[in-house]
Amino acid sequence: MRCSRVLIIGASLLMLNPFSACSKSNTKNVPETKALPENKTVTQVKAVSPEVKKAKLVYSKMSGRFKNDIQFKDDAEIESFIADLNEILEEEKTFPENDVSLFYLIDKKHNIGSDYVPAELIPVKQCSLFNVSRNDLSLRKEAYDALKVLSEAALADGIKLMVSSTYRSYTYQTGLFNRYVAQDGVELAERYSARPGTSQHQLGVAVDFGSITDDWGDTKMGKWVYENAAKYGWSLSFPREYEDVTGYMWECWHFRYIGVKACRFQEKWFNNIQQYMLEFINEWNLTE
Ligand SMILES: [Zn+2]
Repeated sequence: MRCSRVLIIGASLLMLNPFSACSKSNTKNVPETKALPENKTVTQVKAVSPEVKKAKLVYSKMSGRFKNDIQFKDDAEIESFIADLNEILEEEKTFPENDVSLFYLIDKKHNIGSDYVPAELIPVKQCSLFNVSRNDLSLRKEAYDALKVLSEAALADGIKLMVSSTYRSYTYQTGLFNRYVAQDGVELAERYSARPGTSQHQLGVAVDFGSITDDWGDTKMGKWVYENAAKYGWSLSFPREYEDVTGYMWECWHFRYIGVKACRFQEKWFNNIQQYMLEFINEWNLTE
């Protein structure tokens, strides 16, 4: 769904900047300030807050498709966005300090070391809440706790989730990727499998549900997860028709735990595209 908001970043910055050449020449042509209606004077000298300036700078670094999809109509809307962003950044500060952020950007351009292992991995075993496809699964604690909550909600609706893939070590991902390359060639393999060090699975926060095939999305379980996951903090990582943004083909079965607030934030401001939100947060945190 396309966003209806319209942002004219450069233009609004220029119009509201009282120090721009344009404003100076306008002022010169006005004989006396008192001749201006009071409300007009206030509008012209209103300062742009440092955070709005920063938001515009970060926005300018985003991709062309991001800018086409995500737009803000004016500075007031950017301020509203920043208020929500600050809540997310406050939440980020509460994440455990002995591990990477739950908003850690990992994709084809941003990796993590071969030695990275989540600080606390919890085994994911067959239980009354969910089924598992194998006995050696595990998740980072926050994701494990959230999986239980999601599973309870699914059970209440008569669905027992099937957990098929969870944390994968760098070494495991290496073997998996090499197997897919041998099977399909590197070009095709890269469209559906991450190179080692670039997989959300190495972070221990991603789950593949069900059969790990496209038709799972049409099953009762697949539809339930698609419609309800975000309420419990799980976000679809690789949506349909966003391969040029995420780097991967549509994967109806792959969900990343980012928390309930971030899911709402992503839906409200980023067209529900996880990659857009994580890229923006990453750039925001890197910008002074
Ligand atoms: Zn996956």
